[in-house]
Amino acid sequence: MGTDDEDSGDGRLIAWPLERLARVMRAREHEDGLNPAQREALRYLARANRFSNTPGALTRYLGATKGTISQTVMALERKGFITKAERNARKAVHLTLTEKGREVLSRDPWSDLAAAAEDLGGKTRRRMQRGLEQLLAHELRRSGLASFGSCGGCRFFREKGRDGDAGGPHLCMLFESPLSAEDTARICFAHEAAD
Ligand code: SF4
Repeated sequence: MGTDDEDSGDGRLIAWPLERLARVMRAREHEDGLNPAQREALRYLARANRFSNTPGALTRYLGATKGTISQTVMALERKGFITKAERNARKAVHLTLTEKGREVLSRDPWSDLAAAAEDLGGKTRRRMQRGLEQLLAHELRRSGLASFGSCGGCRFFREKGRDGDAGGPHLCMLFESPLSAEDTARICFAHEAAD
């Protein structure tokens, strides 16, 4: 009996459903007075860590132009979905979801898809997750785009490196900053895969 790796499947049977799925999801992204670009920005900000919730990181994540992101951010702020704040001495602008922003995301079509994915069998879900992660990593490399991974697989992550620190127990060597367990689940613009 052959293994999965020995199968000579047709890759288009993965690519075609992905294309159709993306189109179907995109069609639903015009609800609640938002457009797809604004929803993408809200979803990103809901997942980004505190170093990555800036207009610059958002621009890199979406692969958009600065002008497009600036308009998106202004529209989201005007509609009350995000707030802007200057956080440190360098006056870097950080973007935070408001209650209204979190509430609209709870009705997001991609949240519905995530719930549907929960209903798949555990084995199917784990295999799909691994396969999709590999495809995404491949396309990101091909396009020269940053990975935006989370701390677990990052070369700057030191598990329990700040044990006992109020913001710990983990450490980011790059930002020389403690990381909580919740921080480590978020995505980061500076993530670099560990060897
Ligand atoms: S350990 Fe890596 S992913 Fe985590 S905050 Fe630091 S640079 Fe970002």
